[in-house]
Amino acid sequence: MSEATASDAVACLVCGARAWGARLEARERQFGLPGSFTYATCTACGSLQLLDPPADLAPYYPSGYYSFDGGDDGGLVARIKAAASRYGVTGHGIVGRAAAMVAPPPTAGMHAWLARAGATATARILDVGSGGGALLRALDAAGYAHLTGVDPFLGGDARVGRVSLRRSTVEQLAREAHGAFDLVMIHHALEHVPAPRETLAAMRALLAPGGHCLVRVPLAPSWALERYADRWVQLDAPRHLVIPSERGLVALAAEVGLALDASRHDSEAIQVWGSELYRRDVTLSAGAREVGWLAKQRGRRFARRANAARRGDQGAFLFRAV
Ligand SMILES: [Zn+2]
Repeated sequence: MSEATASDAVACLVCGARAWGARLEARERQFGLPGSFTYATCTACGSLQLLDPPADLAPYYPSGYYSFDGGDDGGLVARIKAAASRYGVTGHGIVGRAAAMVAPPPTAGMHAWLARAGATATARILDVGSGGGALLRALDAAGYAHLTGVDPFLGGDARVGRVSLRRSTVEQLAREAHGAFDLVMIHHALEHVPAPRETLAAMRALLAPGGHCLVRVPLAPSWALERYADRWVQLDAPRHLVIPSERGLVALAAEVGLALDASRHDSEAIQVWGSELYRRDVTLSAGAREVGWLAKQRGRRFARRANAARRGDQGAFLFRAV
């Protein structure tokens, strides 16, 4: 794929078609790095794909992108964030519930998906693209015992509490641990991989009979994409190689043996306030701290409406192995 120069020769990473519609010229806006990147919509499945990915993406992932300690200093803010994170996983805790309403943690909504997947404390859970394992550590704190993360960009293997982190691709892990997990999750990482079909197939291969697969991913099209186009914060050029459409993702999953069980749009306030920063040519790294409560409140209202209409800019999909 990376050798392809003529865009018509590029196959859709989601459905395999080679017919591209509307183009978007985008810039890297999270850190303000140089370059221009062309995205196009697949006319067959509606997914949005980067047609000219850089040969080397490493410069677009600045050092410190992953952290093992999560910067937890034990102070009040850290404890409130931890409570919000626990609430996301367990659905319990008054402080955590209030904190999660103000600032949704990465674990937001997880307890409902864990319940739907039938994942009890003894379930064998794998997080694909785990980074330093922040989500898995929240699951550890909530009582889950068998937790594994896999990420090719880790510095090495590591163990944090009951969380085992493996420096590996999911495809490599699938060759060693076929059928070894009850729940395999991928949270906002599928859009970063060069071969999402292979990634989903490996996730399917890692599932025990009756196992579940949870995919959380940005989606195209969406109200945010329509409104903000190349300034849409979740385009995240050039790190997002492909942003699947809902129907494209579900069809791709079916091809590798994953049947849709349940799904919902779970887009957040940042789709508005982040994109508004980009409209003003302010990077996320420079402007995120200065965004006020009102702007975030506007974003939350937009997100609630978009999610209800299934036009949010991200979604969660629970599949079962078939
Ligand atoms: Zn397609």
